Amino acid sequence: MSNYYQSLTNDQLDLELSQLDQQISQIRSKQLALDMARGKPHPDQVKLSYPMLDMLASSTDFIDKGVDAANYGCPEGLPSARQLAAELLGVNPNNVLVVDSASLSIMYDVIDNAFVHGISGCKPWCKQEGVKFLCPSPGYDRHFALTASFGIQNVPIEMGADGPNMDEVCRLVQTDARVKGIWCVPKYANPTGITYSDEVVRRFASLKPAAPDFRIYWDNAYCVHDIEEPSDKLLNIFEALQEVGATNLVYEFASTSKITIPGAGMSWVAASNDDIAQLTQAFSFHRVCPNKMVQLAHARFLQDAQQVAKHMKKHAALIKPRFDLVVSKLEAGLGSLGIARWTHPKGGYFISFDGPAGSAQAIVALAEKLGVKLTSAGATWPYGKDPHDTNIRLAPTFPSLEELDQALDVFIVCVKYVVAHLEKQSRQV
Ligand code: PMP
Repeated sequence: MSNYYQSLTNDQLDLELSQLDQQISQIRSKQLALDMARGKPHPDQVKLSYPMLDMLASSTDFIDKGVDAANYGCPEGLPSARQLAAELLGVNPNNVLVVDSASLSIMYDVIDNAFVHGISGCKPWCKQEGVKFLCPSPGYDRHFALTASFGIQNVPIEMGADGPNMDEVCRLVQTDARVKGIWCVPKYANPTGITYSDEVVRRFASLKPAAPDFRIYWDNAYCVHDIEEPSDKLLNIFEALQEVGATNLVYEFASTSKITIPGAGMSWVAASNDDIAQLTQAFSFHRVCPNKMVQLAHARFLQDAQQVAKHMKKHAALIKPRFDLVVSKLEAGLGSLGIARWTHPKGGYFISFDGPAGSAQAIVALAEKLGVKLTSAGATWPYGKDPHDTNIRLAPTFPSLEELDQALDVFIVCVKYVVAHLEKQSRQV
């Protein structure tokens, strides 16, 4: 579809620009303060888990399968918590460590351990030259920030509709021993919302890395976060590894952050027997044991995968109208103009928006001036550098529907304004 503004005569474009100017002035006078920046659950979503707080009282039996949750011990996590965590990922509980309250902390610890001490008998990364991580982009800004904070070089990898460009991933992982990891959000990716296809998962499982200390950092943050039926189905990476007889290749992460209470939940890592043994030892220097009281409350409240699915349906009932609103408003406001595209994910927390080259920063800046906070343009790329300046991550869960409605009206005007101005500028040179 062609860009509407390109089809206008100079006079028509000027008329359009002056109408947009008027709309901008009207919006400015409203002095809005709306936030679509981060993927935070709405308070009503968090409230769904308040009954979990009643699972623990002074009269509660804190013993879980013979383990006293109210004392030291069980550094690998409470048995019921491991059971639940394993069930959600489809792995054996012995291959899961439930060790923290949020998954990013575990990812940090895992990378910190490889960086400082080394894994698989290799030299620590801090003593190796030019350590690199592959970063499918657009992707999750905190992943990229984490590896960048260690001085690891983040290398962007093109993201497609069914996962990262696997030809490129295979080439780099299999030929360059400085490549030590790849960040993946395989289901309802942050921010594109896509789920990796079975073929992509199988190609990951078949990787033959040049570096023995290479791992796939499989952040399955949205493993149960479906909002539409039929939901996306992600092939179990550990089953795919088994199919090809591979091992010691994947660390899988997840947490209850967007199931129960963000930052106050339980988080876990799943890996092969060898990797779990190494991580158990590495983590033993960091903590005597995790917060097993929180784990007990979670295990008793969430129980099993079936109960979690029921609980997630309640989240979906709150999130779906927001996703639908964003998509229908973008469609109505921009659909016929041929100037942008956006995703319509069946789960997760984000909608990914792409405008024309050179537009994203200007759109985000203008929206901010008008009182609508968006994720910084470029944040979805390593070092904040979106090479074509097109991508904007929309996070629709936190605002109320009314706020979202208003924020989208502003966003749409900003997109039109910026794109029309780009067209005007291109005619002036
Ligand atoms: N991974 C991804 C892909 C996320 O989007 C988020 C939250 N925005 C996290 C991890 C953070 O999860 P946690 O609270 O468990 O650290």
